[in-house]
Amino acid sequence: MEKEPDINKVVRQHREMEQFFTGGFTVRDQQIMSTESSQKEAATDAAPELEKIAQEVRLCRKCSLGSVRTNAVPGEGNAGARIMFVGEAPGADEDAQGRPFVGRAGQLLDKVIAACGLKRGDVFIGNILKCRPPENRDPRPDEIISCLPYIQRQIEIINPEVIVALGAHAARTLLNTNKSIGQLRGQFHEYYAGFGRPPIKLMATYHTAYLLRNYSPENRRRVWEDMKKVLAEVGLPIPE
Ligand code: URA
Repeated sequence: MEKEPDINKVVRQHREMEQFFTGGFTVRDQQIMSTESSQKEAATDAAPELEKIAQEVRLCRKCSLGSVRTNAVPGEGNAGARIMFVGEAPGADEDAQGRPFVGRAGQLLDKVIAACGLKRGDVFIGNILKCRPPENRDPRPDEIISCLPYIQRQIEIINPEVIVALGAHAARTLLNTNKSIGQLRGQFHEYYAGFGRPPIKLMATYHTAYLLRNYSPENRRRVWEDMKKVLAEVGLPIPE
């Protein structure tokens, strides 16, 4: 059987070729840092780079969603975040405000973040798609392919210790797999952020919108178990 192409890899290779010819290659390699202090140093460079991406996203017309959105939603948060949340796509509230996770699913995400002893400003929150699909339909493959470089670049710049992929679409896209969220959640996977860089730990968990629709003690416990693993991984205290 023919092996499916790795979308993440294909898009990244294309970007690397583009960057190679525009001189970005050297700069990117110099940014590879791993100690805590260098992450803080990286954060000072990271904020303007993230803003540059945000501006590109606001002007983006790479797919048809660009002509139906009210606002693009580039993502927001701490440029030196140790934990980065990645959702699926903006909904109606996010489209209206141009900010990620500000509707009901976002309020629940705020609670999850607070339960971790963190503030929204401590983390970075982004999405696979930067524009809202009409009627909140699932992202289409062509839309994901057009938009994927933005989240890939955001991940590379922030270089978080852990990515939390919220829901099946985010987890499957970042891990390039068709496995179900039930199979993926609860354990760490590896996200490869490019050439010569160590893989970033990725925890998949239920999307907070799914959790709202299926608000059982069991599902809440599962998300909390996943987040406890994330906190342990980055060495943060686990609130009781
Ligand atoms: N759901 C998402 O996946 N992203 C948002 O920004 C809001 C809701």
